[in-house]
Amino acid sequence: MATGNINVSVENIFPLIKKFLYSDHEIFLRELVSNATDATLKLKHLTSIGEIGVEYGNPKIEVKIDEANKTLHVIDQGIGMTKEEVEKYINEVAFSGAEEFLEKYKDSAKDSGIIGHFGLGFYSAFMVANKVEIITKSYKDEPAAHWTCEGTTEFTLEEADKKERGTEIILHINEEDEQFLKESRISELLVKYNKFMPIPIKFGTTEETLDLPEDAPEDTKPETKTVDNIINNPSPAWTKQPTELEDKDYKDFYRELYPMQFEDPLFHIHLNVDYPFNLTGILYFPKMGQDMNIQKDKIQLYQNQVYVTDNVEGIVPEFLTMLRGVIDSPDIPLNVSRSYLQADGAVKKISSYITRKVADKLKSLFTNNREEFEKKWNDIKIVIEYGMLSEDKFFEKAEKFALYPTTTKEYYTFEELQEKIKDNQTDKDGNLVILYASNEDAQHSYIQAAQDAGYKVLLLDSPIVAHLLQKLETSKEKISFVRVDSDHVDNLIKKEEDKISKLSEEEKEKLKADFEKVVPKGTYTVQLEAMDSNAAPLIITQPEFMRRMKEMQQTGGGG
Ligand code: ADP
Ligand code: MG
Repeated sequence: MATGNINVSVENIFPLIKKFLYSDHEIFLRELVSNATDATLKLKHLTSIGEIGVEYGNPKIEVKIDEANKTLHVIDQGIGMTKEEVEKYINEVAFSGAEEFLEKYKDSAKDSGIIGHFGLGFYSAFMVANKVEIITKSYKDEPAAHWTCEGTTEFTLEEADKKERGTEIILHINEEDEQFLKESRISELLVKYNKFMPIPIKFGTTEETLDLPEDAPEDTKPETKTVDNIINNPSPAWTKQPTELEDKDYKDFYRELYPMQFEDPLFHIHLNVDYPFNLTGILYFPKMGQDMNIQKDKIQLYQNQVYVTDNVEGIVPEFLTMLRGVIDSPDIPLNVSRSYLQADGAVKKISSYITRKVADKLKSLFTNNREEFEKKWNDIKIVIEYGMLSEDKFFEKAEKFALYPTTTKEYYTFEELQEKIKDNQTDKDGNLVILYASNEDAQHSYIQAAQDAGYKVLLLDSPIVAHLLQKLETSKEKISFVRVDSDHVDNLIKKEEDKISKLSEEEKEKLKADFEKVVPKGTYTVQLEAMDSNAAPLIITQPEFMRRMKEMQQTGGGG
């Protein structure tokens, strides 16, 4: 038997990287800016522990387009590389210097925010460039290095005369990728992927208007000054402690995330955990109303402040994808299929953590300011009802704060409701009968009749409530929900035989027969009421089960 090493030839790997490593070519910029960020964060770390005796200062990253030469430049002022380091980190494909750094400074650098991981990011440059150059000068007292490669296994490496510490990556952009030489395109990508990265990123310059002196004459033209155009906010709200932030800061950050969104969010949830997984973020409840078609994909997923995706399916339970905001976790495996994600243990834990935090927040809003909570109910109920339907864990928690509004504008929890109606609303078998209306206008006269009889009528008008009722009925004993216009209400409403009708028996029979001619047979029941009640003189009802069946068909499927 022979043993040996499989020899992975770089020659074979190159075209594979170019073609398959990343399906999205545009992410090369994210990768290069991430490397520039890592190099700067390493510098920050090494100066902070006194390993390098220089001031950290205010290093920034610059992205520059040179249209004439068809090159794109990413320049940093980070730790740089010596010639040996270029050989080690760049020439060895799939060797991650980021991982090595984290290993070496294990304890102190744990929270440094370093991004790199697999040692493949740099090569994504070859997806859009036929030639890549690195000019780099290490913080160590050694000459600068110049590396050039044209996308084959050959490269050149020589000394260079760069004086300042840091690295410049030069991409000679492919003809077919010339979009990446356009200012608007690069700007779009920087905003998409790098908007909240931790090191300032300069892209061009901008004019800043200076404040006029107080005593300036009225027609003075304000002066402008050319300043760096910094495209990112290096310390976004979710990276801070909740105690450092005021309500206004959360709202401002919401605006920053969704510049086109004019309505304030209803409230926010700040996520912050570092064991057994690492996760930070802020979720917002937008005003939702009745709209089930609210746009999903509004929660953005980040890793160490680098944007990854706005598709959080599999990471956040589905009912919470209606929320907005940011989650940031280095512990979510990326570049893997969604079905794998759903089975991943860490991701499952993250998902249930988020569910729990949302439930806890709702509970505390309910307990601490019930009046406010009731006011917001209509705008948040869809998420809560949907969550109760789809996640049992959430159902258990939400039972404490889910509200059931009545037609007379009271809001009860289920328990409170039971207490209210237990003496008055039971059928002959002792089941609690909960009356509800789904459309206040259309069912007006039925509602009125029930109210007159002293019953509480719930107003449940969300599109998923029919499913939720079924779930409540099966999960609780001896209760049934009955829509206020269904024939079951008869079982409850005691017939008050002594009420005087203005019609004779004969007239009543005739009127009833006339109506029955126009109402579909078998599906509805027609009945005449006493004329002196406030209710309608004539009531047409439909069996509860038939109506529900129809509703389920309309909203697509069972609960
Ligand atoms: P990763 O970032 O996952 O470690 P990359 O392929 O993106 O892998 O980069 C490989 C290595 O090259 C990095 O870990 C780092 O050591 C080095 N490197 C890349 N870009 C820079 C840079 N701008 N400054 C200093 N070192 C860099
Ligand atoms: Mg990298």
